[in-house]
Amino acid sequence: MKGEVLTIGDELLRGEIIDSNKSFLSERLLRLDIETHFHGSVRDDPADMTDAFRRAVSRADVVLVSGGLGPTRDDLTIEVLARTFGRKLVRHEPSLAAIRAFFASVGREMAPVNAKQADLPEGAEALANPLGTAPGCLLEVDGRQIFCLPGVPRELHRMMDEEVLPRIAARHPGRAVVRARLLRTFGMGESNLEEALADVAKEGEVVLGFRTAFPDNLLRPLTRAASAEEADARLDAVCTAIRSRLGALVYAEGDEPMEAVVGELLREQRRTLAVAESCTGGSIAERVTSVAGASKYFLGGVVAYSNEAKRKLLDVPAELLDRHGAVSEEVALAMADGVRARFGSDLAVATTGISGPGGGAADKPVGTVCVALAAAGERHAERFVFPLDRARHRSLTTQLALDWVRRTLLRQPLVAPTILRRRS
Ligand code: ATP
Ligand code: MG
Repeated sequence: MKGEVLTIGDELLRGEIIDSNKSFLSERLLRLDIETHFHGSVRDDPADMTDAFRRAVSRADVVLVSGGLGPTRDDLTIEVLARTFGRKLVRHEPSLAAIRAFFASVGREMAPVNAKQADLPEGAEALANPLGTAPGCLLEVDGRQIFCLPGVPRELHRMMDEEVLPRIAARHPGRAVVRARLLRTFGMGESNLEEALADVAKEGEVVLGFRTAFPDNLLRPLTRAASAEEADARLDAVCTAIRSRLGALVYAEGDEPMEAVVGELLREQRRTLAVAESCTGGSIAERVTSVAGASKYFLGGVVAYSNEAKRKLLDVPAELLDRHGAVSEEVALAMADGVRARFGSDLAVATTGISGPGGGAADKPVGTVCVALAAAGERHAERFVFPLDRARHRSLTTQLALDWVRRTLLRQPLVAPTILRRRS
């Protein structure tokens, strides 16, 4: 079976927005074992749209159209679709009632132009849009399914999963399903991962993909099976094998970020955290507090950029700063101790480094960074050199500090990341 995705909108062809709907829709089609053979985009131009619709039904079994369902004059998708395939537009009363109800629920009056959004090509089936006003629709032409969805990504995502995929599956029963998982790892480079997992998922039923999403490396086992249950069982087995091989290197599944994992552990263990940041400039605190409920375990942080701030706010002895310099394991540890004492937290992490591009010295080149962790009966600091640009240096250091908190809570050794590959 062939899929085609057609996205509509002037802003796409002017390069003003990134066409994320295409990748989302194709990824979802693959779950029903339908490969997208064609991706297209056209402007809000009726002739171009007609052309694209005709071509799509001539070569694809499932056509997914995104955008142009709104109430404004440039939203022409439904009108042009109807005209292209010789259908009249008919008002769909339940959709009109749904649009009215939507406006009422957000306390707004429905504008007359919004009624247009309840017009569908004759013979089309309306698709509910619980997050917006415009319903989608399904029109069958010559046995091909054409689905029209709104351009707004969050509306489109929900409707694809709830309205579109079940209708494709029902129309083509007995098709294989494709399922994948995403395991997030931090600390080991792609080639080392490949080596460590050399004998995992070798049978061919599950294909193991590797992808970098700096500073993480992602593992994506994927399988095609007769049923979702069979696919899940296979993926469970492979994920278990990967986890037992890699241990704490796998920190989460799916989209769960490191700070959520850290937060969950702190909450479970009823422990608290404070942070002392120099080179990361508050980004550890920012990440930790981006998780709802962080007040249960996060006490606070100090961004101590200058030596004076390190002395005054974190009680780092002047003598340590003079003797070892601000970027040293000694000072990083003193920062962690200082912030832990000030806030009375169970754990503390600290960072101090040279993210560049300037500021390096022979004994402390650009990229040097010291990370420290302090907890009851546990003090550890280490010096690294990450030869990365400023943004990546900060993001890697932040992730490493969070990972050390996680590892401490899991009673796992604090490891140095080996994720850096030689760069040309
Ligand atoms: P609305 O009722 O909001 O007008 P619509 O169905 O008419 O919805 P568009 O007007 O085409 O959709 O797009 C609405 C917004 O959705 C755009 O401004 C854009 O931000 C986003 N959007 C549209 N198409 C895409 C796409 N292919 N990828 C990512 N975002 C998109
Ligand atoms: Mg619009």
